[in-house]
Amino acid sequence: MFELKDKIALVTGGANGIGNGIVKTLANAGARVMVCDIDEQAGETAARDAGGEFYKMDVTDSDNINDVVQKIIQKHNRIDVLAANTGIYPEVSIADMTEADWEKIQNINLKGIFFTVKPVLAAMKNQNYGRIILTSSITGDITGYPGGSIYGATKAGILGFMRSAALEGAPHNITVNSVQPGMIATESLKKELGVLSEQGAKAVPMKRLGEPEDIGATVCFFASEEAKYITGQSLVVDGGQILPETPDV
Ligand code: NAD
Repeated sequence: MFELKDKIALVTGGANGIGNGIVKTLANAGARVMVCDIDEQAGETAARDAGGEFYKMDVTDSDNINDVVQKIIQKHNRIDVLAANTGIYPEVSIADMTEADWEKIQNINLKGIFFTVKPVLAAMKNQNYGRIILTSSITGDITGYPGGSIYGATKAGILGFMRSAALEGAPHNITVNSVQPGMIATESLKKELGVLSEQGAKAVPMKRLGEPEDIGATVCFFASEEAKYITGQSLVVDGGQILPETPDV
């Protein structure tokens, strides 16, 4: 579909779910994919299946991230594409939320994006080329659900971060965009939010949940040569879920 032959692509949260869909689509487009995740077993498998490499990475640990980024650059001389996709979404109401809950979700979903983008953006500036794609959510600025307050706040935060990062990257031929998935069929969506495919599909005009590869295709587009003049933008990929229907009165 899009040609990413020999591009070096780093995907965080690449072991499972949407991240794994991103890994597969980038690999199909010809990229060499660096799968970065805390889940070693699934990460090794995802990397092997994609003909890429696995690096254990915890996005809340900046030393660990810097170390992995340096290793990848030493080996491959560059990082062309970053898909910063890691995120968690445990349901927790404001009434029940502790400071520790808030910090855990915030640290992984938002600070983790900053920790990851920082060394990669620096490397991309050195090579005067880069494509950064951040995984936000429709919950960031369009939808909400009880128990999703901190999650929505982090996903909105990603959109604000993305626009300023785009302005910092632009003079260096680096684009920064984000993707906002609707309901994508992953094990975590089922486990954390109890969304089952058949029930969830009823809320989607296209009558199915998204597949991880639907988000992967969007990442490949933003990473492609065809998207070289698009930066600071976010694309909703949700099968029409957010579209309000004209009331039938
Ligand atoms: P998932 O749980 O299947 O995948 C998340 C991955 O992140 C896992 O491989 C996990 O091991 C990894 N991870 C967790 N904590 C980490 C850490 N500290 N460091 C490194 N890796 C870590 O989840 P998913 O459903 O695929 O969601 C992926 C992203 O998409 C998240 O950012 C999520 O907010 C976003 N999203 C998902 C949906 C959906 O419907 N599934 C919708 C909108 C947005």
